Formats: sequence, C-alpha cells, structure tokens
Amino acid sequence: MSLPQTPSGGTRARDRELVARHGSPLYVYDLDRAVAARDALREALPESFTLFYSLKANPHPGLVRALAEGPGGCRAEVCSPGELANALEAGQEPGRILYSGPGKTAEEMTAALAAGVRTFSVESLGDLERLGAQATALGTVAEVLVRVNSAAAAATTSIRMTGTPSQFGIDAETLPELMPRLLAVPGARVVGAHFFPLSNSRDEDSLIAEFTATIESAARLEREHGLPLQVLDIGGGFAAPYSVPGERPVYTLLRTALEKALDEHLPRWRDGSLEIACESGRYLAGDCGRLLTTVTNVKHSRGRTFAILDAGINTLGGMAGLGRLLPLAVEPRADGTDGGADGGPELTNVVLAGPLCTPGDMLAKAARIPAPVPGDVLAVPNVGAYGPTASLLLFLGRPAPAELLLRDGEVVSASRLTTSRAEIDTGAR
Ligand SMILES: *Cc1c(COP(=O)(O)O)cnc(C)c1O
Repeated sequence: MSLPQTPSGGTRARDRELVARHGSPLYVYDLDRAVAARDALREALPESFTLFYSLKANPHPGLVRALAEGPGGCRAEVCSPGELANALEAGQEPGRILYSGPGKTAEEMTAALAAGVRTFSVESLGDLERLGAQATALGTVAEVLVRVNSAAAAATTSIRMTGTPSQFGIDAETLPELMPRLLAVPGARVVGAHFFPLSNSRDEDSLIAEFTATIESAARLEREHGLPLQVLDIGGGFAAPYSVPGERPVYTLLRTALEKALDEHLPRWRDGSLEIACESGRYLAGDCGRLLTTVTNVKHSRGRTFAILDAGINTLGGMAGLGRLLPLAVEPRADGTDGGADGGPELTNVVLAGPLCTPGDMLAKAARIPAPVPGDVLAVPNVGAYGPTASLLLFLGRPAPAELLLRDGEVVSASRLTTSRAEIDTGAR
C-alpha cells in the first residue's frame, strides 16, 4: 500500500520537467495516492460507515471527484458557498452533502437549500432557528445534526476543538435543557448528532479513546435526553504528516475498537437504523500532494545562507498565517544521501525564505539541504491538504501556484486559482 516517497533520480528529473512545463511554484496532486489513502481509511473503519471528505483540506474539484468515485466513495462535507460550488462541480449529489460550520448566514443557507442540500450540522439554537426559517420559506424541511461540544475530553491532540469554551457546537451539559426547543423548530428536523472533538490525533490510542467517549456520550444523549439518533457523525482526527517527509499512519486497531464501542453503547448500528459517519480532510488528501518550488536567489548574510524561493506563505501558509513556522523539510536528494557520509553532497543549514516583503515569509529556519544554487527545484512533501487555499494567496499580489492532477503518472488537469477585483452592485436596497 505504501508507495515510495523518497524521490528517485527519475522523480527529480520529472519534477524539473513539470516545472519547466507548468511553471513554479507548482502543486502536484497524485490522485492515485488520494484514492489509496481513502481505501486505507475505509479499511480501518467498519464497512457500513459513511465517510465524508472535508473540502476545507483541499477543495480542488478533481480531487473531490476522485475521492468520491467507486464503491467506497466519499461524500462531501462543506462549510461555505465556495466549498459547496466545488462539491457540486465535482459531481456530488446535493442531497448527500453535509453543510457545517459556525458562521452560516441566512443567505448561504437559502442558497444551499435551493441547490438541494438537505443535511446541515448546526452549532447553536440560533443557527438551527435560522436554518428552519430559511427552509420553511422555501417550503422544505432541513435535516439537522446537532453539533455537540463534549463536556469531557478523552485524548490529547495537537488541535483540540471541544471540551473547553468554544464557538463550535452546543455545550453537552446544556443540551438536556435545550432539547425540547431544538426539537420544536419549524422547518428543521433533528436527525442526529455531530461531534468533531479533535484533529490530527497524536496516535491510534488517542483516536480510539476519543471515538469511544463520543459514542458513549451520543448514546447517553439519546437514552437520557431524547436526542433523535438516525445519524451519528463521530468526527475525525485521522492524522497525516504535513510538509515533512513521512508516511500517514496505518490504523490497525481502530475498526475492532469502534465495533466494540458501538456494540456496547449503540447496538442497533448493525441493523442499519443508525448511520455512523466519520470525516477526514488531511488523511485523505495530505500525502497525495507535493509542492515544487524553485530557488530564485541565494545570498549570505552574517554567516547564514538564505535560499529565496518562489513559494512562501502566500503559497504554503499552513493555515496559521504569519509568525508560525511550519515543520517544513524538503525531500531528500535523489541519491538518498544525507550528510556526505556515503560520499553524497554535503548538507548545510539553509534558511528557506519566500518571495514576500515581510520577515514573516520564512518557510524554514534551518533546512538541511545541499548548498543551493539558483534554479534548484525543491520538493516539499505531504502538502495535499492545507496547501494553496490555506495560504495567504492574495498577500503581495503574486499569482497563485499552478495545481496539477496526476493519474497513472500522467497530468490530467492543470489549473490555477485566480483572484481579481470585481465591482459589486451598490444600487439602493
Ligand atoms: C477541519 C475539520 C475537518 C477536517 O479535519 P482534518 O484534520 O483535516 O481531517 C473535519 N470536520 C470538521 C468539522 C472540521 O472542522
């Protein structure tokens, strides 16, 4: 299952060829790898599970389409009009899309409902009432998953999203009191619960602990407080390396652990009257993508070597924007040498700076690479998720990177996001 990640000499020649042809910086997404990741995640989950792909990680319609194809295909989870448009462009059936997010406006709810989306995750009573009103106005009924901010946190993780005060979800301890009102909103029918307690789980044990706590908590809300449960979205947390070499984890214990927890707390999951769903962005998309970037200039300043790249935080922003360095490392040299021990090129510490006029545009403080020269093409691995659309694309006005899709090693799509100013209607309202 694991494809070779260390580039061979052939890969490097191919990288240079792709850059010569399509420009630099350049994102390259290998759709076969994305499908392999999906199949691996499917394998790690009970068979009947629904799997949502979170477009937040990478909304490229070609990628969404590839992940949706075939029997194990993913449904789309979207959080904005732009993500919805991408999902629809990718051929997703609107009725199978999950629309979530803490800031849904009445306008975007109406647009989503009008496009045929029926399932929404709601984050508060206000969110639910707004949705119900829009659905009623359109003469329809929205199906709703109530997003729950669990009271207790089971696992440790790099990005915790519940258990503390949060803009996400309804605090579990307030749900019992709120329940009658949640269930009485016209135009909306509560069909289940949505949990998303963590992202990028540290290890499989944490993931299992978190899912088990979620399943217990959902069962309790149903049993003791009458939360309707036809659908239970237990969230995600599946990990993936980001902008450093490495392999995504293989989860070998998860499936059995989930089956056990469900059998214990929600045994009817087996008869199909309860749909269980999971979500992932980074696990599905992360390792399919590489960023190729070219060294445009090399300079030495007060004892340090700077390689100025044509990719910076406008290209690979790592969601955080300014001031936080990614754990970025470029891929090892073609010949696999690292440090000259076996006669390869000597590695040196190089500051990898981007092209923007801000000291914040730095991708690595001390990358270990052979002495760079202008024209070198470097490859940042594992950036299929949280790449261009998680970056400061507009800052300093450079074009967005080109994005390639590969199938069987062949380029099947080449495109670039564009942004331009358009006049808006200022007519009287
Ligand atoms: C961000 C997010 C995801 C995807 O997270 P990954 O860590 O990329 O898998 C899924 N669901 C929700 C609700 C999210 O906010």
